[in-house]
Amino acid sequence: MSKPILEIKNVDTHYGKIHALKGISFEVKEGEIVTLIGSNGAGKTTTLNTISSLLKPTKGEVLFKEQTISRIPPHLVAEGGIAHVPEGRKIFPRMTVEENLEMGAFRFKDSSKIKKNMDYAFEMFPRLLERRKQKGGTLSGGEQQMLAMGRALMSQPALLLLDEPSMGLAPLLVEVIFKAIQKLNQEGMTILLVEQNAHKALKIAHRGYVLQTGSMVLTGTGDELLQNDMVREAYLG
Ligand code: ATP
Repeated sequence: MSKPILEIKNVDTHYGKIHALKGISFEVKEGEIVTLIGSNGAGKTTTLNTISSLLKPTKGEVLFKEQTISRIPPHLVAEGGIAHVPEGRKIFPRMTVEENLEMGAFRFKDSSKIKKNMDYAFEMFPRLLERRKQKGGTLSGGEQQMLAMGRALMSQPALLLLDEPSMGLAPLLVEVIFKAIQKLNQEGMTILLVEQNAHKALKIAHRGYVLQTGSMVLTGTGDELLQNDMVREAYLG
């Protein structure tokens, strides 16, 4: 594995007086799948929102490709190559699948490039091709997740942030989404994955970090964390 593409250094994030992240540090290297696991309220979503600059850290910094991005606006973080697929997908319900995908291509004006990226999203998620004229709001939960991920791919990001992609999905669709995450990674995408399904996430991740009430308490390879007693007891049931 190569150099870090993302470095979180001693980051604190607050919501008013609530101290949600307490001096967390971790990194993601180019080509990795790194997963962040933790119970409800541990700070996983807050971490992703701090990286994409939707929240500003009150201390510490976030470096992307060795440049600090902690205090620049979110649209510039996105333009710089970080795509964030948020919890709950947040697709545009009244727009068609195609229109939703086009919204993800904000970095590009060249229509042939947009078409090429859309073809790639369709190749990754053939179901989206079948539904391309359908309104986003009429898709199933799994299809909406595919659409949210496809939209993120349209910007050709260097780093993909995925917040609970399997949440609320039937087991068969969870499989489809996890297979797609692995395929994307095999084709070169670097991925930071937040998941409630710790078992599945650790199985596909190169490395993982465990977040507990805003602090990073454990790290290791996916396999090491799968074997760890504390992880087994607290997160693997
Ligand atoms: P979940 O899996 O439930 O989404 P999480 O690990 O993603 O959990 P966060 O959503 O990051 O956790 O929340 C971390 C802490 O910050 C929690 O104590 C939560 O109550 C608090 N928090 C999150 N969002 C806000 C907000 N908008 N205002 C105030 N407190 C918040």
